[in-house]
Amino acid sequence: VAVVGGGAVGCELAWLLQTLGSRVTLVEALERLLPLPGLDPECSRLLQRELKKAGVKVLTGMVVAGWERRAGGARLSLEASPFIEHRRPPKPREIEAERILVAAGRRPRTQGLGLEEAGVELDGRGGVKVDHSLATTASGVYAVGDVLGPSRPMLAHLAGREGLAAAANALGGAERVPYSAVPAVAFTAPQVAWVGLSPAQAEDQGLEAAVASCDLRSMGKAQALGELAGFCRLVCAADTGRLLGASAVGHAAGELIHEAALALTLGATAADVARAIHAHPTLSEAWAEAAEAAAGLAVHQPPSRGLR
Ligand SMILES: Cc1cc2nc3c(=O)[nH]c(=O)nc-3n(C[C@H](O)[C@H](O)[C@H](O)COP(=O)(O)OP(=O)(O)OC[C@H]3O[C@@H](n4cnc5c(N)ncnc54)[C@H](O)[C@@H]3O)c2cc1C
Repeated sequence: VAVVGGGAVGCELAWLLQTLGSRVTLVEALERLLPLPGLDPECSRLLQRELKKAGVKVLTGMVVAGWERRAGGARLSLEASPFIEHRRPPKPREIEAERILVAAGRRPRTQGLGLEEAGVELDGRGGVKVDHSLATTASGVYAVGDVLGPSRPMLAHLAGREGLAAAANALGGAERVPYSAVPAVAFTAPQVAWVGLSPAQAEDQGLEAAVASCDLRSMGKAQALGELAGFCRLVCAADTGRLLGASAVGHAAGELIHEAALALTLGATAADVARAIHAHPTLSEAWAEAAEAAAGLAVHQPPSRGLR
């Protein structure tokens, strides 16, 4: 199977199909899997390594330039992606596949609904324009979810929260969606989860950020589970230690991320997370270790190993 698109859905389905016995080639136009600004590139690297270990052939920096039907499948022509600058452009190549699964590009379907005639303005990418209360440009009309377009994460749990906020606001409330703390998960193995700002995004916003990590392999629970790959990583304001973002790769990362999401939502600092007692042996102890490193309180790892 050729899976085109190394976003969350492409990675999930590539992993799933490989696990079910297919031989999968995963093609991604950008330089890394899960190429989202909010995701620390280290998470992408680790996922790519683990997918390769599982047998998935990963081709980054390449696009499908064309394909033709062949007996029993198709032949795809791949070439260097025009979307990135290459240090050494990959050579054009051809791959065979019985099936092609395109997992690239989602866009709001806003045409043909009469929205503009009703006074609901769209943005340049076809998404419905809304203000901070999720009100559209037509009085009394609110919009939520994927139809707002890719300027916001297109995720089920965010759409649900926006729905609640829009309903409250339509009834005169003043609900705001906490867009700075929306967790996202790629349900691969290992899972990849993230919330808030990546180090690059913090830098783009002019924030001086410190990053502290803890590898899951140093946790007794990870050893007991035999699930060693992965880490928990905090991004904190360098001066105050306030959490800006977090990422986790590994077993149950999609569950682990919620501790960081809660801490972020509550405006906690790394010292706050470090102060919270974490049960032993759990994977969640990795947050405490990372937070201790960020706050200069590390007991089990020298600060120089945790802080970068
Ligand atoms: C393959 C895949 C995997 C995904 N995995 C995840 C995941 O693991 N976690 C996650 O959070 N998100 C995931 N998502 C994204 C998630 O599905 C969407 O973000 C979410 O469904 C958005 O909700 P929504 O209500 O805005 O839109 P939708 O769920 O698309 O709902 C819109 C509804 O409106 C209906 N509709 C459309 N036009 C009209 C019309 N003219 N009149 C009446 N009804 C209409 C549609 O039929 C549809 O039922 C995934 C998406 C895809 C494609």
